[in-house]
Amino acid sequence: MNKRLTIPLNWYQSTLDMLEQQIIEQHLGQTLLFDYDEGGAAVEIANWTATRLLCQSDTTNKPCGYCHSCKMMSAHSHSDFYLLEPSAVSIGVDQVRALQEWAVQTPSHGRAKVTVISQVGKLTTAAANALLKVLEEPKAHSYFILLKPRQTALLATILSRSQRLIIHAPDPNQALGWLQQQLPDTPNTLQQLALHWLNDANQVCDFLHADGAKQIEQFCQAFNTLIQQGNIEPLHEQISTHRDQLQWLGQVLIDSMHTKLTTEQLAGPSVAHLDSLQLMGCYQQFVDLQQQLNTNVALNLSLQLYPLLLNLIETEEPSAH
Ligand SMILES: [Zn+2]
Repeated sequence: MNKRLTIPLNWYQSTLDMLEQQIIEQHLGQTLLFDYDEGGAAVEIANWTATRLLCQSDTTNKPCGYCHSCKMMSAHSHSDFYLLEPSAVSIGVDQVRALQEWAVQTPSHGRAKVTVISQVGKLTTAAANALLKVLEEPKAHSYFILLKPRQTALLATILSRSQRLIIHAPDPNQALGWLQQQLPDTPNTLQQLALHWLNDANQVCDFLHADGAKQIEQFCQAFNTLIQQGNIEPLHEQISTHRDQLQWLGQVLIDSMHTKLTTEQLAGPSVAHLDSLQLMGCYQQFVDLQQQLNTNVALNLSLQLYPLLLNLIETEEPSAH
């Protein structure tokens, strides 16, 4: 359920503005520590910062995207950029020594040399001590961006040398606000559902730009017809035609279980009228169906869908009071 969001950096504009300000005023620490919540855009912001530090254009307050340096960054081929990642379960001392040799050299393209250490909590003790030496006497052109989840511990001596920045997980309301700016004509509820079902704001934006809003509307209408009139056909037709929408049905089942457990009403279609056992049975059917689809591309979804949809409207007779 916890898919990784692809995060538009616009959601972190205030963080980027702050970094930009410090770069302009030459106050940016040479060692930055990005302490991130799960789902926070630490990698994206580190990448932005590195690209900004290396960018050869002085006319923009963000990476220009056009200079030789920006192009090399987007092609992952910049010789003044170093990404240090765990080679296996940890980052070893040899890896840090190799970094050290690289970091003391003069930049190939003039501006700076930037290192990103993606999981700094995975340094072995020897590696952490070696890194500390590098950080203690950095060359004027060197920047180090260390990333770690907030719960992960780090050598106190490295912590104390770092300018720490907390990268929070994006706020769903912020995501929605961003979408509303991109697509002011799309109804709010459709945006909310698209964000919830697709779970990737950039993808949602493209999807709604195409015929996504219409698809969601039709899905919801078909769902209502099923629940209110007991008519399976529209939803069956809808999902058979757009196979991706089986996922949406799965999300509706998950949300309905959530509503049962918390009484919190989520936006969009719901089958919370089913009792918990029925709901779990339907969800299991959905999971089974999905597995079959994954292993057997020739599976007739149209045929397999009927029993699941039927179960969504077969409620137990309420017991007499
Ligand atoms: Zn540039």
